[in-house]
Amino acid sequence: MQLHVLTEYEKDHIGERQALPEQYLGLSDQEMDTRIAAARAELGRRVVVLGHHYQRDEVIKFADFTGDSLKLARAISTRATAEFIVFCGVHFMAESADILRAPHQKVILPDLAAGCSMADMAASDQLETAWRELEDMGVDTASIIPVTYINSSADVKAFVGEHGGVVCTSTNAAAVMKWAWERPRSGEVKVMMLPDQHLGRNTGWKMGVPLDRMVVWDPHETRGGLTPAQASQAKLILWKGHCSVHTRFNVAQIEAFRKKYPDGQVIAHPECTLDVVQAADLSGSTEFIIDAVKKSPKGTVWAVATEVHLVNRLATQVAPDRTVITLDPFGCLCSTMFRVSPNHLLWILEGLLEGRIHNQIVVPDETKRLAKLALDRMLEIH
Ligand code: SF4
Repeated sequence: MQLHVLTEYEKDHIGERQALPEQYLGLSDQEMDTRIAAARAELGRRVVVLGHHYQRDEVIKFADFTGDSLKLARAISTRATAEFIVFCGVHFMAESADILRAPHQKVILPDLAAGCSMADMAASDQLETAWRELEDMGVDTASIIPVTYINSSADVKAFVGEHGGVVCTSTNAAAVMKWAWERPRSGEVKVMMLPDQHLGRNTGWKMGVPLDRMVVWDPHETRGGLTPAQASQAKLILWKGHCSVHTRFNVAQIEAFRKKYPDGQVIAHPECTLDVVQAADLSGSTEFIIDAVKKSPKGTVWAVATEVHLVNRLATQVAPDRTVITLDPFGCLCSTMFRVSPNHLLWILEGLLEGRIHNQIVVPDETKRLAKLALDRMLEIH
């Protein structure tokens, strides 16, 4: 399945995202391409454009680096000449880039409306409440190590950093959880995994944590919706958050695929639900998925349970000699990532040429210091 560049409907409604000046609306695809390329060339090494794997084709083709959020944040250090980092991704990624950037660099998000519904499911004030309520229930919070997925706000990372916790990615979640459980504490260590319950559950399950020692903390319920006994016996506390893209995949889709392609393989991202991950042949991060499909023999058939732009690029560019389809026949699109349009990218780049910085992402210094503690702890874990 291919998604077209900008549908006519989208062109008519593009101004409903972050508002753009009139002159950036209604441009032809050709004109946008030409002007973006010209602005990129004129800015030269003063700018670096980063494109997340889930980013749309007509934007990612201008990226200097493509990858997952951590790989992109790390790419910044290889471009010290770049004064401006244009992050074609979502808000939490730009925040991570701002935390890890050099002092002379500025991070820009082309559309401020490009958020992440999962990151929005955990807030630092909800965590403060959770800590207080867990104490009320007799749980020693000094024995809880918070682990936050990189898909979280800088505020949440700062809370985690301040409380001895750590950031993880979908690639290193198991190594990070192992590190957390091995921290010396007076009682048995509990890990609180946030904001994605599914990455936490899938990782815990693969590490042999029994499902009855995992509980779900619902930030919208008093005391997370748990009894003191449930909270006390838990080894893994899963924050009730999820990715609206990856939770669309289901086991019925896997069964339908296997019926059609008995020799085909299913590979799923760990943000999918546990039953999907259990039913799939393989599961892992976006980088793992790319690698597995790329290394598979020619002629192999794959159903991939992740964002549709990545699946399409696997099919057309990375592994064109295999059959690669999305597990969901309707294609799972990250609609917030999709908000970064070529129009927004053009507006940003031409603004820089005129000496105007639109949409700079600035994480406050103290938040940055604490969040960096959690990021640095992760970088030390092998
Ligand atoms: Fe967030 Fe899911 Fe989109 Fe990733 S795919 S940015 S987790 S909403």
